Amino acid sequence: MGCRVRTVYSELLRLVVVEGVIVPDLRRRLPGRGASLHPDLSCLELAERRRAFPRAFRAAGALDPSPVRRHLEGLQTERIG
Ligand SMILES: [Zn+2]
Repeated sequence: MGCRVRTVYSELLRLVVVEGVIVPDLRRRLPGRGASLHPDLSCLELAERRRAFPRAFRAAGALDPSPVRRHLEGLQTERIG
């Protein structure tokens, strides 16, 4: 959804919107319309720049992706440390 690089579905992070906030659906169990993103900060930033989130979720207003950002930052820290 961000960079459009094809990846197997299982490697993608599923995202859903809960009350205007985009959250990572780590267990793929949350209801509602989902979108998939590479678990990568650069991919998230690309999606934000392209305003891909409101389109993917068919949202009228702005969506807050900060929980996704925090999740991806946590993943990066784990890889480094
Ligand atoms: Zn990507």
